[in-house]
Amino acid sequence: MSGTDRSRANAVPPDETPGQRAGAGPRGLCPECGHVRIVRSPKGSTFLLCRLSERDARFSKYPPQPVRVCPGYEP
Ligand code: SF4
Repeated sequence: MSGTDRSRANAVPPDETPGQRAGAGPRGLCPECGHVRIVRSPKGSTFLLCRLSERDARFSKYPPQPVRVCPGYEP
């Protein structure tokens, strides 16, 4: 890999900021977000509820996981 190729491999796509990507591990952003509430069903299933959905229609109550990029993400 040349120096130019290496710098492209580390580049952040234009629609993503470094902050939005910071928590995007294999499980995505929601588990690390300050707006999430973990909901457990009586049968033991776990759901991630986005509390921003209560006041902003852009956000789903239960966003499909994993969420890789989100304008509402707060560490
Ligand atoms: S604001 Fe975004 S990252 Fe945070 S819980 Fe809601 S959907 Fe997930």
